[in-house]
Formats: sequence, structure tokens, C-alpha cells
Amino acid sequence: MKTNVLGYPRIGEKRELKKANEAFWEGNLSEEELLAVAENIRVHNWTLQKEAGIDLIPSNDFSLYDQVLDFSFTINAIPERFAPTQSLSELKQYFAIARGYQKDGIDVTASEMTKWFDTNYHYIVPEFTKNQAFSIKVNKPLQEYNLAKKHGFETKPVLLGIITYLLLGKEKEAGFHRLELADRLLPVYIELVKSLVEAGAKTIQIDEPYLVLDLPQGAAEAYKKVYTALKAQFPNTEFILTTYFGALENNTELAVSLPFDVLHIDLVRAAAQLDSVLKALPKDKKLSLGIVDGRNIWKNNFEHSLALIEKVKEVISSDRIYIASSSSLLHSPCNLELENNEKVLTPEIKQWLAFAKQKVKEIATLKTLALGHDLSPEVKAIFEENKKAAQNRKTSTLIHNPEVKARVKAITDKDSQRKSAFATRQKVQEEALHLPLFPTTTIGSFPQTPEVRSWRASFNKGTLSQAEYDKKLEKEIEESIRWQEQTGIDVLVHGEFERNDMVEYFGELLSGYTFSKFGWVQSYGSRCVKPPIIYGDVSRPKPMTVRWSKFAQSLTKLPVKGMLTGPVTILQWSFVRDDQPRSETATQIALAIRDEVVDLEKAGIKVIQIDEPAIREGLPLRKADWQAYFDWAIRAFRISASGVEDQTQIHTHMCYSEFNDMIEAIADMDADVITIECSRSQMELLDVFADFKYPNEIGPGVYDIHSPRVPSKDEIYHLMKKAIAVVPFRNLWVNPDCGLKTRHWEETKLALTAMVETAKKLREEYKK
Ligand code: GLN
Ligand code: ZN
Repeated sequence: MKTNVLGYPRIGEKRELKKANEAFWEGNLSEEELLAVAENIRVHNWTLQKEAGIDLIPSNDFSLYDQVLDFSFTINAIPERFAPTQSLSELKQYFAIARGYQKDGIDVTASEMTKWFDTNYHYIVPEFTKNQAFSIKVNKPLQEYNLAKKHGFETKPVLLGIITYLLLGKEKEAGFHRLELADRLLPVYIELVKSLVEAGAKTIQIDEPYLVLDLPQGAAEAYKKVYTALKAQFPNTEFILTTYFGALENNTELAVSLPFDVLHIDLVRAAAQLDSVLKALPKDKKLSLGIVDGRNIWKNNFEHSLALIEKVKEVISSDRIYIASSSSLLHSPCNLELENNEKVLTPEIKQWLAFAKQKVKEIATLKTLALGHDLSPEVKAIFEENKKAAQNRKTSTLIHNPEVKARVKAITDKDSQRKSAFATRQKVQEEALHLPLFPTTTIGSFPQTPEVRSWRASFNKGTLSQAEYDKKLEKEIEESIRWQEQTGIDVLVHGEFERNDMVEYFGELLSGYTFSKFGWVQSYGSRCVKPPIIYGDVSRPKPMTVRWSKFAQSLTKLPVKGMLTGPVTILQWSFVRDDQPRSETATQIALAIRDEVVDLEKAGIKVIQIDEPAIREGLPLRKADWQAYFDWAIRAFRISASGVEDQTQIHTHMCYSEFNDMIEAIADMDADVITIECSRSQMELLDVFADFKYPNEIGPGVYDIHSPRVPSKDEIYHLMKKAIAVVPFRNLWVNPDCGLKTRHWEETKLALTAMVETAKKLREEYKK
């Protein structure tokens, strides 16, 4: 039996890498200084894994920016358009590909990023051409292996698998499929592996998470071909084939047939696959059991894990079993020990948690317990403590709120339905709101100026009193309302100045939520997020936003939109419970939001927006599972929105993704109005409306808020005309792509003025 870690977080316990990278980009840190920080982090990570007793410690799991980019860089798959960066140092060139570069007479835009499977981590998308060539540019895997060796660590190099790497990329021209490049990549891959083997590597991990997805045509053959060829070259090297984030299912036969020595499977995300994998696994192969969750923050339940290991032991012998993290630990925060503020994270809750460093220890302890002979008093004590924590979590009154559970149980179909159908609501709302054709609105937030942020910081530190803070916010809201009135916007917003983040803000006001101080997880490059933690049944002790919306509405006769985050997005951007299904947690949040919606209506708010930007990223990896997701996710949204009268207009907002393939589910949400990101793709989204008649009102974003660029009236007009071609014009709204909180007021004012003027022009044109 061996212990196996698939990868460790690389940002550093206190985000040292983030800080060093950003300082380097600003020109405030030298290359040597940056590389020294990067080396320290690796040595720190290797040390703690070795001290914990991990047998297979990963190397090349580190990255300065992204592991997929690292691989592209290693094999010289650098898109042609970055040719001008060749004059830069290697390191600067690397970052230029990631982030773009506009200096020294060079002007290249950043590479595209997209989500790493169904996580919140974003990788740099490889770009391939038909004649794509590969060669070793920098042998980063070898450099890292040797670095570890220099510091006295024997490691297991981690390589992205050939097929997964190619499938993660994109063809940049027509006439070929990227899988056809496998043959050309193979010799370079063999060269890489050869260098590692010659340097002394005994075990190599090859990541092929694509095996848990629906594979495209030809992939199975490509898998067999390249890995048969690879293994033939290195008969004495132990190769671990790693799959994670889901079940192998129909790819089980393929996976076990590949000439790997060890198969790794994710038993946290997909425990049910164990039986079929055990049945299919050939006698000469080992199995790596991914049982310590790489993507969440809960302490492992040792009794459960041991039961599972026992089950495996009945089929295969101990020496063929590896105990492992389910995936790389990249997706969990670094170190729970740093959380020593009992007001932020109480000791009772803390005892239920484990971050990466603690998870590494869990893996080691599980092996000791599973082997079972002569347990030291220390290990026995750890086991006892683990059992106690699990028991406590099962019964804690902090977690279990019978009222919430009963309310969820009592939900009926009626609760997820508005009183009348959309056509009826539309008429009633027209009378209640008196909006013009092509009504204008914004998505909610206005610029969060350094000033606004500084008030919040002072308030949190205690140097600004609640009353003073509120006063400043009220003044900011009043100014924004006046400006919107003057500019001629039809449905106003209060501006969200009181919010730090659209999920954290609600998390802080809901029960069942807690927070960490250092629970950072890499999102992309130097960007980290600190997801709040849902530990218990969620409920809303008191209204959360009514005070601000009511105040804003009191200042004007025009409608002010209430502004809420929807249940699916709150769920998606938090660490969630693993002791009940996601659907159950989503429903609890939905009820809390529903109460807020009803309270807003009671307070005189006539338009309420429930943001669901994350609804698409919750989609399961396999298409066969989509419908089940829609069933609960769309229902959760509808529960949150359906407590109000017909004349209250419910908006929702979505961004960050392509929605073309789930447009019917979006329609099924039955929001009266949806505002949706569209402008970056030049309204490509609207193509689907040629076939699918979206039934309700829609505001396709008319300009990209991610850039400071001010759109011209012409551009906006042109985009709206595209929309008018496929959506009945009476159903169209005019609005930006997303919230404006990252923008400056200057460009915001210019852009929104252009937007309002365009709407006026359209009104003239379509008057009759
Ligand atoms: N209402 C939020 C805002 O305007 C929406 C943010 C988002 O969609 N990501 O900031
Ligand atoms: Zn948005």
C-alpha cells in the first residue's frame, strides 16, 4: 500500500506566489526574486508531504500561472501570433502568452481562458494549427524533478496526458481535428518521459481526466495507440493513469485496457464506479483510490474511508492499493492551522474541516489505519478524534435546523410557479410600470471606487461607525440615482455599494454559512477566490437587502430594481456540504431568497433581479446528467422567484458563458426579463433564437463591461438591430453586458449615455 498525492496548491499559504507574480508584472520584483519565491513554495510543499509520510510526492504540479500553459510552453506549442514576444526573456514570454503584452513595441492580446472541467479554475486554452509542430522548448517537468532532487526529495513527475491535452485545446483553422496531432506529439512526449526516466524517475503520473467525459469519435483509438507506444518504450517505469471529477462509466473498459501500471479513480465524486472498476481491473494492475476530497474543505470520515478500503481489499491485495487524494489538491485551500480567529471560524466548525495540508496527513493516516497492525497511541488518538468530529457534525445543532428541513419537505409544485402565465403577467406589468419601448437598465453594480472600498475597510476595522458608514453609502446611492434619472435610464439600480462580493455579501447574512481568513483557492493566474463555507441548513434570520432598496426607491418615482444573487450561484461559488445533495442545499437557499423577494415586494419594490451568472457552470460533465441538474437547479430559481404577485417583474442575469446549448432550460426559468452577456460574441447567442422562440423579455448586453472601451452609439445600434432581427422588438431591453463595479465612473457615464440615446433612437424608429 502506498500513499499518493495528485498535486498540491501552489499559490502559497499566504498567497506568496500571487504577490510575487504581481510584483514582477509591475516591475517591482526581479526574475531571480520571483523564481526564489516559487522555489520556496515548492520546497515547502514537498517538505510537508514528506514529513506527513507521503510515498508518491508530485513534482511539476507547480506552475507560475497555469499547468496547461506550462505544457504548451514545454512542447513549444506557442501560437504564431506570439512571435513578437520571442525577443523577451523566457519568463516574460510565458506571461505574455498568458496575459498579453503591450510594451516595448509589442502588442499581443492574452490567450483565451476557460474552465478546467467543472471547477472554478481556468486554464489557458491551447491553440493548434493543421501543421502544428512540437519540440521541447523548456523541459519544465525535468527541471522540477531535478529541483526536488537537489533538495532531497524523490518525486513523481506529473504530466498532462496527450489526449486530454489535445482535447483541452482548439483548432485555429479548418480542415483537421486536433486529435490527429497525437501522432506528432507522441515522439516529443516520449523524449520528455525519457529525460525523466534517465534522471531517475521511477513513477510518472499521467493525467487523463477526459476519460470521465463523453469522448469524441476517434479518441478511444488515439488513447490505445499513443499509450501502447509510450509504454513499449519504458517497460520498467511505473505509470499512473489518473482520472478525476467523475466516473469512467462507458470508458471503463478502455481505461483498464491501456498499458498503465496503476489506475487512479475519483471515489469522492463518483463512488459508485468502484464495483465496475474492480470487476474490470486486470490482475497485474494497481488501483489508486481517490478518497480524500481534493475539491472541498471537509475532514475525511475515516470510518467510511476504511470501510471502502476494506471492500477493495476483499478483491485485490494491499500491495495493489494506493490511498490518494481524489484529484489534485489545487482546488482546496492550503492550511487550516492558519485559521485562528475564533470569531471568524468557531472551534466547533473548525474541527469538521481539513485544508490541503491536513488532507495530506489524512491520506497518510488512512494508510496506517488500513494496514492496521500495531497502531501507535498517537494514531489511535487521531482516529478517535476523527470519529468524534464526524459524530459531532452529524448531530450538531449548528448544522441541523428542523424548521428549514420541514419547510423544504413541504414545498409543492405551486411554490415554483408564478400565479399566472407570462402573457398575463406581461400585461399587468406594463400597466404597473409604464415603461417605454426598449427600456434601459443596468445589471446592478456601479463602480466600486477606492473611496467606497476604503469606507468598507474602515467600517470592518471599526474605525468607522455603522451610522457613519451607512450615511456615506446613502450619499453614494443618492448620487447614483440622481445621475441615472438625469441620463434617462428607465429602471434604476441602487448600485450595490454596500457589497464586497455578490455571494459573500449574502453568505454573511444567511445562517448556515461561515468564512475563513486564508481559505484562498486559485481561480486563474494570480487570481484567487475565497469561497464562503456552507456548513449547515441555510436560512435567513432577517431581511438582507430591503433597507438599501427601500432607501433608493424612496428617492425617485422611477422603478428601482431590487438586487439579489440566485440560489444556484450562491451554491456554485461556495464550498458546499457533502452531507446532503447539492439540490437540497440549493432548495434551502432558494427559500431564503424567496423570503427576501417577498419582503422587497412588500417594501414597494416593483422590479427584482435574481442574478444567476453561475447557472451554466453547474452543468454536469456528461450530457446524460444535464436534465437531472436542470430539474433541481431551475426549480430552485423558480422557487426563489415565485412568491410574488403578477405585477412584480422578476429579472435574472447571466454571464460568463455560452448559453446556446441550454436556452430551453433558461426559458424554463420563466423570469419576466433576462439580461444576458452577448456583446463579446457579437450577439452570437442570438443565433439560437432563429430556431427557438424565447418566450419572455430579454436584454442582450450591448457592450462589454470587461474593457474600459466606450462603445459608440453606432455599435450599440448595430447590435440591437441584430437582436431585433430575431426577437420581437417589444420584448427587447437595452443594457450593458454585466455589472459595472470594476469600471470607472468616467467611462461608465459615457457608455450609458450612448446606450440611452440609442434606445431613444430605436423608440422613434419603432414607434408605431
Ligand atoms: N448584480 C451583479 C453586479 O452587477 C451581477 C454580477 C455578475 O453577473 N457577475 O455586479
Ligand atoms: Zn454578469
